[in-house]
Amino acid sequence: MTTQQTAPEQQAPARPPRSPRKKPTLRQRLRKLRVTGRRAAQHAFELLLRSRQIGPVAFLSASAVLGTVLTVTTMFTPCYAVYVDGQKVGLSVADQSTVEAAVATVEARSTRRLGYSYTVDNEITYHFSLALRSELAGEEDFEDLFSTRMDDVAEDLRQYEVSVNGRSVGVIESKTEFNRLLERLKAEYQTEGTTSVEFVDTIELLPTLVDEGEVISIEEMYARLTENTTGETTYEVASGDTFGAIAYRNDMSVAELKKLNPGVNIDRLSVGQKLNVKEQIPLLSVRTTEVVTYNEAVPCPVEKRDNASMYKGTTKIRTQGVEGEARVTAQVTRVNGIEKDRQILSTVNLRSPTTTVMEVGTKEKPKTASTGKYKWPCRGSITSYFGYRKIFGSRSYHSGIDIAGAYGTTVKAADGGKVTFAGYKGNYGYLVIITHDNGTQTYYGHNSSLLVSAGTKVYQGQAIAKMGSTGRSTGNHCHFEVRVGGKAVNPLSYLK
Ligand SMILES: [Zn+2]
Repeated sequence: MTTQQTAPEQQAPARPPRSPRKKPTLRQRLRKLRVTGRRAAQHAFELLLRSRQIGPVAFLSASAVLGTVLTVTTMFTPCYAVYVDGQKVGLSVADQSTVEAAVATVEARSTRRLGYSYTVDNEITYHFSLALRSELAGEEDFEDLFSTRMDDVAEDLRQYEVSVNGRSVGVIESKTEFNRLLERLKAEYQTEGTTSVEFVDTIELLPTLVDEGEVISIEEMYARLTENTTGETTYEVASGDTFGAIAYRNDMSVAELKKLNPGVNIDRLSVGQKLNVKEQIPLLSVRTTEVVTYNEAVPCPVEKRDNASMYKGTTKIRTQGVEGEARVTAQVTRVNGIEKDRQILSTVNLRSPTTTVMEVGTKEKPKTASTGKYKWPCRGSITSYFGYRKIFGSRSYHSGIDIAGAYGTTVKAADGGKVTFAGYKGNYGYLVIITHDNGTQTYYGHNSSLLVSAGTKVYQGQAIAKMGSTGRSTGNHCHFEVRVGGKAVNPLSYLK
């Protein structure tokens, strides 16, 4: 905000320059007066004064005697309620000179602007009253009052104080230019389909007369009306930031943050990148409604069919339907260009979708709990047994049994349990280790590929891998091992 320097006037006494945007308008002050609760107390005093037929000073003395002196003298003060042309204007002054000085200022200023002598000829009368000290009116309030009452001043010689939602924005010279500015603000959000444009906020023009220096240009008014009111609206991505974390810190859902940043790849943020974290809201908001027509995909209806051979919780698409298409006419409401509401006015079917058939498993899912009994992990012939054996003439120890089969044969869990290892491990090649509920572990080695990952619970007979010859192996087989208390035992004693 800039402070405007006004040269001291010869006619009017010098006073500090006033800032047109911070000073509450007369209307605001009057509104405040109306809503202040303490005003009720003041009324009570006034009623008392009238009923007792005594003057305020006498009443104050009486109050002092009654012990209410502290309350009364710190809050209320004797004053004059001002009447203009016999009408109470809702302003009180401590001294009549306040009103007289205001009249002199308005007369001088008007005379200068009009080019002929201007006199405030309203009849001003004063009535004794009581008021809160903080609510006594000042000279400026009366300047406002008399300026707005200048009915005989030609329309285009007047200046106007513009306020938005009761807050003063500034004083402008021409009403015509201001109306043109409003049209320009509306036009910025207009499109071909726009059916209505209106301002969300309440705009008021109050005729006034101020010193030349206090008037702002129409461009300055434009700048003030379009100025963003929500403060800092962007955020610069720092090292380690994620989209989700930024949304959380700004009190938003990821979807909301995404909406403010269309076109941003949320998985690929770069340090220094700017994201919008708040909507920009100008001082004066524009609401538009628009009728739009567009084609929209119509999703396929889904028909579900039970499948008793599939486990519960699993589904399979039997027939994929084809999406349909519809012509939609909708009324879209936007505020400052951002969509706030969408009402569908009509929908014309262009092409009906076809049905997607989905099979839904109904078979009870097997329990992953261990049964304590072990089933053969795969079909095949045993090519090597557990224990000491001779390979190329030397004695060696074999910690499991080898079951040979075709490449890709399904390897199944011997019993329910939890996969505690699934990956490549030295001589074992691709290996799965399942730990069963009683702590017993089963090993399945040399696989060509793995179907489970560590941490997964598996049921007895669940496919866990495909047979292969990875690791230290000479042909496709499954090396199957059973460990009790960490020690390899003969699997043949456990398999049934
Ligand atoms: Zn082996």
